[in-house]
Amino acid sequence: MDNEQTIVNCPTCRKPVIWGEESPYRPFCSKRCQLIDLGEWADEEKRIPSQTDINDSEKWSEEDER
Ligand SMILES: [Zn+2]
Repeated sequence: MDNEQTIVNCPTCRKPVIWGEESPYRPFCSKRCQLIDLGEWADEEKRIPSQTDINDSEKWSEEDER
């Protein structure tokens, strides 16, 4: 039969991914792994702590001015 499935490994987590319509994010296993590979996921994680830091100090200076 010619029904063999092509399986690739997700570049991010190495999970087997079926190369077909059921894997819209191929060669990644999921959207999350795609974002990780693009660096967007890591970027977001880096932004969260520094943003909290800035917001915190801004709040303090605002209260000080009032
Ligand atoms: Zn993956």
